[in-house]
Amino acid sequence: MVAPVMSGWKLPQPLFQRILDGARPNSVREDQQPAGMVKQAEKAQATANGASGNGVAEAVDVDVLIRAPVLVLNLNYVPVNVCTVRRAIVLVTKGKAELLEHHLGELHTVSRAVEAPSVIRLEYMVKRPFLPRKLSKKEVFLRDKFTCQYCGKKVHDLTLDHVIPRRQHGAHTWENVVTACNRCNLHKAGRTPAEAKMRLRTTPRAPDPNPYLILQNRVILDEWEIYIPWSIRE
Ligand SMILES: [Zn+2]
Repeated sequence: MVAPVMSGWKLPQPLFQRILDGARPNSVREDQQPAGMVKQAEKAQATANGASGNGVAEAVDVDVLIRAPVLVLNLNYVPVNVCTVRRAIVLVTKGKAELLEHHLGELHTVSRAVEAPSVIRLEYMVKRPFLPRKLSKKEVFLRDKFTCQYCGKKVHDLTLDHVIPRRQHGAHTWENVVTACNRCNLHKAGRTPAEAKMRLRTTPRAPDPNPYLILQNRVILDEWEIYIPWSIRE
């Protein structure tokens, strides 16, 4: 069995063992060591470390902690995923990732005996296409920099314009949707740019995939922030 040799590693040995055992699909741990023994060992460890004297509560806290989120960075430090502490421990132990940050703040108060990874970096490059950005009014405005694609003005009354109008069976796709000011949109009405004698300033296309989409609707932990551009953290 692999031993926890990393510096700063404070997970109790039995828990560490349990996480590694749990990572194997056909684990035989149940035969070799009853679950109760693991709990006992954790309890003893927690007490030894001066943590809460309530062994049951301690075990629950540890279960919460090993499911806590961990930011996974690609070899080039771009976030690729969010996994659990359990998964992160397996990746680090198997030499597939390096440990960059431990959990801080709230989780630290759960149990002083336990330090868990919070940010890890893969030792290899994941070449995975990120999810394409979802087509929405806001995303189209962002792509077009809040500028009317016909007159070039930055105004507040922006609308979404289908280049080939919907009534002419124009698709609702990145390539057929642009930002237009209210004035241009009214002028164009249900016509194509050619019919309305209007010219697009740029050819609309899908924006670059955003690798930070994985962090949408997630709480960004303090120790993740230095790995995430400030514009994403708002
Ligand atoms: Zn306009």
